[in-house]
Amino acid sequence: NFDKTPEERDIAHHFHAYTDARRHEEVGPMIIESGQGIYVKDNNGKRFIEGMAGLWSVAVGFQEQRLIDVVVKQMRQLPYYHNFGHKTHGPAIELAEQLIKLAHVPMSKVFYTNSGSEANDTVLKMVWYRSNALGKPEKKKVIARNRAYHGVTIAAASLTGLPNNHRSFDLPLNGVLHTLAPHYWKEGQNGETEEQFATRCADELDALIQREGPDTVAAFWAEPVMGAGGVVVPPATYFEKIQAVLAKYDVLFVADEVICGFGRTGEMFGSITYDIRPDVMVMSKQITSSYVPFSAIMMNDRFYQPIADESHRISTFGHGFTGGGHPLGAIVALENLAIIKERDLVANAKETGTHFLNRLHTLSESPLVGEVRGVGLIAALELVDDKAAKSVKVAGKLGRLMNETMQRNGLISRGMGDAVAFCPPLIITRAQADDMFEIVARSLREVEAEVGV
Ligand code: PLP
Repeated sequence: NFDKTPEERDIAHHFHAYTDARRHEEVGPMIIESGQGIYVKDNNGKRFIEGMAGLWSVAVGFQEQRLIDVVVKQMRQLPYYHNFGHKTHGPAIELAEQLIKLAHVPMSKVFYTNSGSEANDTVLKMVWYRSNALGKPEKKKVIARNRAYHGVTIAAASLTGLPNNHRSFDLPLNGVLHTLAPHYWKEGQNGETEEQFATRCADELDALIQREGPDTVAAFWAEPVMGAGGVVVPPATYFEKIQAVLAKYDVLFVADEVICGFGRTGEMFGSITYDIRPDVMVMSKQITSSYVPFSAIMMNDRFYQPIADESHRISTFGHGFTGGGHPLGAIVALENLAIIKERDLVANAKETGTHFLNRLHTLSESPLVGEVRGVGLIAALELVDDKAAKSVKVAGKLGRLMNETMQRNGLISRGMGDAVAFCPPLIITRAQADDMFEIVARSLREVEAEVGV
């Protein structure tokens, strides 16, 4: 195929994820050829700061030699094995042990899956299985939040609270419900404090459980910080109040740590940052720095024991994946976690993240910036064209313009409606964070000039 450019070949045969497929035929692909540290290079040799760490995931940066080395070694020794029945392998055993040790609350077991979506799907199946095991087959509804992102498989997409993941897919599934997003800037009412708003969120959850019947609601799902929903940092006292409601009705807490886990918020888990005591934790992305697709579900005894009993009663837990606990993923996760610990990347997320966030806050003066929010090394700028009314004339336009401008200036970020997100590799240095900020600030000035404010 030497008569065609890679761009033409991509348009011809590659159906992209999360794309307006017709628009892709017009604008064509961005082809990334290599990565090094916090940078990636495209096929024209242009270098970018990967301000999103890929998809919120490349914690230790690109081309980390230690991860390359363990993969090669594991490939030679045992490139593949599974954990069906009673079989297993060293890396899967070691990683389960390590994850349980890392947990801030008593955890008991780890189940392996391949992606964040699959992990959330699996947890929902486990919730149903457990309710049957407990002789409470009616207690199977689950509650997630508007703006939540839990993935795209059928159950995970149902849990997700974004219209794009439901529209035209005939989702959500029955029994998957949504409650108010803890988005103070967007949902907070005039004069309402953060604490009052948090109380309102908890009251809405309480009312929803009451309406549905407490005996029918099994679990609540939450990302400690919402990622794809716009980097939504919970308002003060939110999780404390939510957990009080869940305790009242014997509802499980599933913490989706797929983005927050392993240092992103400046603690090992987002659940630590916000004092969440989950029954189940869902982990992916930064667990392997996404060098290998991998995910894991960690659960406490209260969650696990009824499932174990049921699997014994009916002779098997009929669920598992060919690639679950893959030795390459497990060995990369172990080395990746060792690097995070040795290089103190969790502390770096806190320090460098705070520095970057402080600098972002200086942009609040801009007529286009409605809100700056973030924690650790995850942040967002919310753009508006009417600051007082917190509104935009054409939804998504400012976010897209800002995103395209930053990309032209050498920074990959992510536009989500009119918010633009930043989530760089955890290895980013203060000087690199300053470089990143300079591009953000310059791009904002260019966008201001372009829209004429
Ligand atoms: N959960 C959260 C919080 C996520 O951010 C994502 C992906 O962005 C997922 C789940 C789904 O993960 P995956 O894309 O690996 O299926």
